[in-house]
Amino acid sequence: AKQEGRNAYRSFTQEMQAYSTRYLQVLNALRQAIAQEQLHVHYQPQISLISGDVIGAEALLRWHHPELGNISPAEFIPIAEESGLILQIGEWVLRVAVAQAKKWHQLGLDKLIIAVNLSAVQFRHAGLPNLVMQILKEEDFPPQYLELELTEGVAMHDPQGAIAMMNSLHERGVRMSIDDFGTGYSSLSYLKQFKAYKLKIDQSFVRDISTDAEDKAIVSAIIGMAKNLGLQTIAEGVETAEQQAFLREEGCHEAQGYHYSKPLPAADFETFILGASAA
Ligand code: C2E
Ligand code: CA
Ligand code: CA
Ligand code: CA
Repeated sequence: AKQEGRNAYRSFTQEMQAYSTRYLQVLNALRQAIAQEQLHVHYQPQISLISGDVIGAEALLRWHHPELGNISPAEFIPIAEESGLILQIGEWVLRVAVAQAKKWHQLGLDKLIIAVNLSAVQFRHAGLPNLVMQILKEEDFPPQYLELELTEGVAMHDPQGAIAMMNSLHERGVRMSIDDFGTGYSSLSYLKQFKAYKLKIDQSFVRDISTDAEDKAIVSAIIGMAKNLGLQTIAEGVETAEQQAFLREEGCHEAQGYHYSKPLPAADFETFILGASAA
């Protein structure tokens, strides 16, 4: 048993070393990523469950490194947050996504909403409202078509701070949605004070709504509560027609997921949306 313990310890140490090597590798690579144009933004369609139309696009970061290959945002966003690089990357995504949405508006898709994820570090940065306004002004883009996604966990980590920041963005006409909703233990009293426009039901609840009675109940409860608070709802991770049917029946407003489309490069998003409206 002692030997086993020692081996377990050794492999733990090796794992820690491998982890920190990878961490440093990714961190160093990330410092170059913007300048070397390795970062790209993909767009995932958001569909109205009432009309079936594409009404929005969520901007999602993609990173292809020449040696390390594709690195998932689930891996590099936390490293970017810890190192502070997220401020620079987050600003870049916001600018690229708003500029792209402006092009789509000019093409005639002038009701399209562009949703951009905010990291905890960006959200706690006092300069955020001015930065957002500066980008909207540079791109001549109407604030009400920009939606900033903030996770429920980040909002609930410091509810008073979140209320103040959301007020500030709301006053400037920008919409906020609460991402990964259902995982962050919001209390109703905070939810009422958050100036959110939309709740984004976490995909972990959506996944099993066709088979799991508890998940069904949770999703119904979130939709009902949102309705009573005057909030819109969008379900993420919708992969099947059954999930869509349930969500529509419950009165969920919008859906997003592989059932409709993966996140797409801008040109493919355009083809998707033009095809969808022609059909
Ligand atoms: P998220 O904001 O919750 O985004 C949803 C994730 O689910 C995305 O993963 C998306 O590609 C994936 N997804 C969409 N539809 C489906 C589906 O039907 N089934 C399944 N299984 N997955 C689906 P992705 O693109 O890998 O992003 C992961 C996370 O990384 C995001 O979670 C978000 O927290 C973060 N992220 C991505 N881009 C950005 C960004 O520009 N800024 C910040 N701060 N975070 C970002
Ligand atoms: Ca999101
Ligand atoms: Ca989410
Ligand atoms: Ca998530």
